[in-house]
Amino acid sequence: MIDQNTDYNVAPNGFYGHFGGSYIPEMLYPNVEELRQNYMEILSDKSFQDSFYKLLKDYVGRPTPLYLAERLSERIGAKIYLKREDLSHTGAHKINNTIGQILLARRLGKTRIIAETGAGQHGVATATVCALMGMECTVYMGSLDISRQRPNVERMKILGAEVRAAESGNKTLKDATNEAMRHWINNPVDTHYIIGSVVGPHPYPDMVARFQSVISEEMKWQLMESEDRDYPDTIVACLGGGSNAAGAFYHYFDDARVKLITVEASGKGVDSGYSAATTALGKPGILHGSKTLLMQTDDGQVVEPYSISAGLDYPGIGPLHAHLHESGRASFHNVTDNEAMQACITLSRLEGIIPAIESAHALAILEKLEFSKEEVVVVNLSGRGDKDLETIINWGGY
Ligand SMILES: *Cc1c(COP(=O)(O)O)cnc(C)c1O
Repeated sequence: MIDQNTDYNVAPNGFYGHFGGSYIPEMLYPNVEELRQNYMEILSDKSFQDSFYKLLKDYVGRPTPLYLAERLSERIGAKIYLKREDLSHTGAHKINNTIGQILLARRLGKTRIIAETGAGQHGVATATVCALMGMECTVYMGSLDISRQRPNVERMKILGAEVRAAESGNKTLKDATNEAMRHWINNPVDTHYIIGSVVGPHPYPDMVARFQSVISEEMKWQLMESEDRDYPDTIVACLGGGSNAAGAFYHYFDDARVKLITVEASGKGVDSGYSAATTALGKPGILHGSKTLLMQTDDGQVVEPYSISAGLDYPGIGPLHAHLHESGRASFHNVTDNEAMQACITLSRLEGIIPAIESAHALAILEKLEFSKEEVVVVNLSGRGDKDLETIINWGGY
């Protein structure tokens, strides 16, 4: 979790190449600075790590299996393993990060937690760990998202969180983020802000990547057991903000034998005006407190993204991924709503696993790329499809 590897690790100034940093209002500086000064010491502490790994094991259910999907492998013509993050408590990888951050918040003496959420998945993961730790939880959510994501809103309430509606702007994720930041500025002493992906001002992207790096940490010994070598040829992950991809890639950044592939959501098509394919459409700019690639108008206004999958419906990517893109270390692809939905049904029928629609984007690219028969490919199956049932039913193509 704490080992320094590489060019792809954050530099002391908070940058990954040209991207990252901390572009925040002056009023927020003390909060972020407190984190920056303390996070590495806390993460390296033996008793912190003991608590983190114990909860990952007993509460989250880690290690998650690395499953050789034989029927899918036969279809694709490669050796396809699925890293089963979908089997984690709450149904996705997001819980790895919220467990880490709430333990960190406790170390910093914080008693209250705030978060922002778009589709509600991060809100649920945050409300879950707040219940676990007995901490007060406030989740900001755009009022439009509240009406679109009712089951997750109710989940958060059942778990004891307060869901506050953001009524400004488009009433979606960006507006919820603004409200959460405002809240944090006004409550700097007792409150920690849990960000849900490898986005935000330094040190968030690095901190979240480290918590998620448990995914590739497990992959190493699991591949050693099944393949007698601790690396795959290729890793595939879907890309919203980039936390599941960061976790799946983390221990292989410097291993040139391993191809890294990310898959963004192109919605109704890259040029349709309904897309979230940031690297295809975006330009450098400031989003969520860091310099990164984002979809924006000529005068720099953030473009509202679109994807059938709520978790990929984000107008930017984390700065680490902007760097992986610029440096060419990872290759960036995108698939449409329809391609992802087809892949969702394919996995369901071939393996008896209904994936999250986010994860189905990663699966869909398997149909479009060339692999060799012996190639060992790990697809990070970031989440399960239970939450997407209504979307799948409305799509109807099964
Ligand atoms: C939130 C989410 C994502 C996208 O977020 P990343 O930070 O890019 O990983 C992907 N898959 C699932 C299941 C999610 O819930």
